Amino acid sequence: MTGRTFVTVGAGQTAAVAARTLRRRGFDGRIVLVGDERHAPYQRPPLSKEFLSGADTLDALAILPPQWCADNDVEIITDTAVLRVDAPSGSIEVAGRPALPADAVLFATGGQPRRLTVPGPRPDLVHYLRTIDDAQRLQRTLTPGRRLVIIGAGLIGLEIASTAATLGVQVTVLEASDVPLSGVVGARVGSEIARVHRDRGVAVQTGIGVDGVYTTTDGVVITCADGTSVHADAVVIGIGITPNTAVAAASGLEVERGIVVDAQGRTSIPNVYAAGDVASRFSARAGRHVRHEHFDNANRQGAAVANAMLGRDAVNDDAPWFWSDQFDHNLQMLGAATTDLVLRGDVDAFDFTAFYLDGDILRGVFTVDRGEDVMVGRELLGRSIERAVLEDEDTDLWELVDSEEVAS
Ligand SMILES: Cc1cc2nc3c(=O)[nH]c(=O)nc-3n(C[C@H](O)[C@H](O)[C@H](O)COP(=O)(O)OP(=O)(O)OC[C@H]3O[C@@H](n4cnc5c(N)ncnc54)[C@H](O)[C@@H]3O)c2cc1C
Repeated sequence: MTGRTFVTVGAGQTAAVAARTLRRRGFDGRIVLVGDERHAPYQRPPLSKEFLSGADTLDALAILPPQWCADNDVEIITDTAVLRVDAPSGSIEVAGRPALPADAVLFATGGQPRRLTVPGPRPDLVHYLRTIDDAQRLQRTLTPGRRLVIIGAGLIGLEIASTAATLGVQVTVLEASDVPLSGVVGARVGSEIARVHRDRGVAVQTGIGVDGVYTTTDGVVITCADGTSVHADAVVIGIGITPNTAVAAASGLEVERGIVVDAQGRTSIPNVYAAGDVASRFSARAGRHVRHEHFDNANRQGAAVANAMLGRDAVNDDAPWFWSDQFDHNLQMLGAATTDLVLRGDVDAFDFTAFYLDGDILRGVFTVDRGEDVMVGRELLGRSIERAVLEDEDTDLWELVDSEEVAS
């Protein structure tokens, strides 16, 4: 035994991956995950998809099965909030228990949904989606014919829209910007995603500012900036998350739109790390601090931090990647969207890849049901490629990887 103790603040995706990586890398000290939810670490992506629709069970969400934890001697403390970390003494103050000693601490506190104040007698009709408990509550409202309004056409809002519409719910999405997801995938692609939702019966209303939301004895009323109002049986507020930084700030860490960490996940205090949704990490690729709210980022940075903690070279600065499932389509986005894009495939049939260029340099790739283009895109990002080649469905993109036609 090394005798060292590693504690995570938060027991979500990032913390679970860090624990798993530590054991895989031979760390034989004590590992404790402290989470304030009543569930052991679980995957959130299905909460708006397979779990919400009823296709997945709770068991399918678990990241660290109990037997694995027993075999690997990983302790998970649930339903317990960390209040403060006293880094100099290595003491972790937790609610309702004695303080925990730690030699290294990982802040993996994720984020929480931005909330709106909703007055009225029926708070039970107002939903957010971050946790299993949120998903189970929302699930009960998704019955055929009910009217659901979703405020915000971000990834989670649109995934809920797709799941709910598939279950026969009458869905309206209210989005402030003119095109959903335009900040993430660009206006051209965002408008195609909106079209698919509309084709499947979702009323996607864009350019609509929401002024207020209130409940009545039998429903929800959403008042809009243009003077109209929308009535519904329930509302989901999906307007993004704020990172959970309060405990980090109370512990003396540098916080600025997330917990500030270097490329290896190290905070401003020695032996204290942060990763996942909550971390604002220096990326040499981007030339600035970045904070990503994606599953892949939680996995990669959770693993990188565990390696850093063991003194290994641990920088993972790969291009950001996420996926989203909407209706029967798998969407993936790699890298960054620019306004200059080349389309490959059949956009009308919603079967295409968008390559985002900066001059002739490839900066990002978005795919609909074409995950392989993302895989090859990883190899080609940052390289100079002819538009005609990207556009031509008959070109095997893998051949470009070793080709001299593309310059690094
Ligand atoms: C509904 C939904 C669908 C998603 N779908 C996708 C998808 O399709 N693709 C994709 O790439 N990403 C998706 N994501 C994002 C992905 O799940 C997150 O990026 C990932 O969960 C982040 O992991 P994390 O460990 O950093 O944070 P979290 O998973 O949020 O875990 C943090 C945990 O820390 C706990 N905590 C906070 N403060 C304290 C404290 N003081 N003491 C103790 N515990 C604390 C929190 O309650 C939480 O349990 C989705 C997210 C949601 C909510």
